[in-house]
Amino acid sequence: MRTAELFEHKTVFSLEVFPPKPDADESVIYDTLEQLSDIKPDFISVTYGAGGGKNGCKTIQIASDIQNKYGVESVAHLPCIDLSRAQAKEILDHMCECGIENVLALRGDRTDHSTADGDFRHASDLIQFISDNYDLNIIAACYPEVHPESSSAIDDLKWLRHKVECGADHLISQLFLDNRYFCDFREKARIAGINAPIEAGIMPVTNKRQIERMVKLCGVELPKKFVRVLDKYENNATALRDAGIAYAIDQITDLIAEGVDGIHLYTMNNPYIAHRIYEAVQSQITVPVH
Ligand code: FAD
Repeated sequence: MRTAELFEHKTVFSLEVFPPKPDADESVIYDTLEQLSDIKPDFISVTYGAGGGKNGCKTIQIASDIQNKYGVESVAHLPCIDLSRAQAKEILDHMCECGIENVLALRGDRTDHSTADGDFRHASDLIQFISDNYDLNIIAACYPEVHPESSSAIDDLKWLRHKVECGADHLISQLFLDNRYFCDFREKARIAGINAPIEAGIMPVTNKRQIERMVKLCGVELPKKFVRVLDKYENNATALRDAGIAYAIDQITDLIAEGVDGIHLYTMNNPYIAHRIYEAVQSQITVPVH
């Protein structure tokens, strides 16, 4: 099923996982998926490391298994920063052969593994390539606190609208910890004529180092009340985990009341945390939206 069709009747609740590292025990991701599929999410998306080589094969294999073994819709991420058109075609053909209908088309970031010398400069180039050549549902990323490379919020919105005009059917946001950024961004996106469903990306923060890394990488602001929680419990892993879960539940409750199209939970491959959050918000998600 194409994910863009999910938004008509309910608040979409989706999950994100990442493939195991090349030397890790592969059975762990399948235990994780088994537990996550109990939640019956609307879909599970699988990340793809830019320049990841074999990691990309795992993305497609896992996305295919999510559909075929666990009966849950899946989305395969695809960063294009170092892909040639021929490589993109090979990967997209393989996705179609595996029955994957949904692709999250991304630019990706320059990493130690990526050369950034592909045929696509921006995600919009890949989105156009997919719409011209495939019958796939296309998802794109968006940034409530503005992409760190953008010169302004207006510029970022202009390019987001371009991604939708090139064929993106559904958007998923970067994580944020202050809902005001998301609500302002959504309002401006609608004014700019961006009408595709926008899911809010929520990351339950359960580890101080993890969030410090994300802040540096994504330019996300840490609200004062969040910093107080981090400081108070930084040396107590259980208290910090529980406070991070409570914070995420509070964010989701507020977003659903604001009429968000969907919640995309960055699970960090932790089914325990995903279950606790889902159980707390389940009844709110299933309330019909119309
Ligand atoms: P783009 O849409 O290309 O935007 C990048 C910058 O260029 C922005 O500043 C934008 O305003 C600008 N821009 C866009 N189009 C144009 C244009 N035509 N002309 C001029 N400027 C333009 N990375 C991975 O490697 N693997 C993953 O699996 C992955 N999953 C992600 C999932 C989500 C939900 C999100 C939010 C991000 C994910 N990322 C992933 C990270 C992503 O690759 C980075 O944030 C990257 O820096 C930007 O990707 P993009 O697709 O948004 O790029």
